[in-house]
Amino acid sequence: MSGVVPAQPKRAKELCTMRCPHCNCKDIGKIGANQYYCWGCFMEFNVSGEEVRLYEVAEDGSLVAVDHPPELQFGTGA
Ligand SMILES: [Zn+2]
Repeated sequence: MSGVVPAQPKRAKELCTMRCPHCNCKDIGKIGANQYYCWGCFMEFNVSGEEVRLYEVAEDGSLVAVDHPPELQFGTGA
């Protein structure tokens, strides 16, 4: 323990960043015109208008479209 705690910046500016539609984290990198990469869950997503499409990056680097995010499967049923 060094005892040095970096001060938490208060919401300085509302950056024009968006949240990952999958894990909701803000660690988003822009990789294309409307394409983003999430460092939180390592998914790519493509934004066109109000539509967001999720892609999983396969081991060989190819993109696999994700139609139903896993989190949608939680909390359902009895
Ligand atoms: Zn994510």
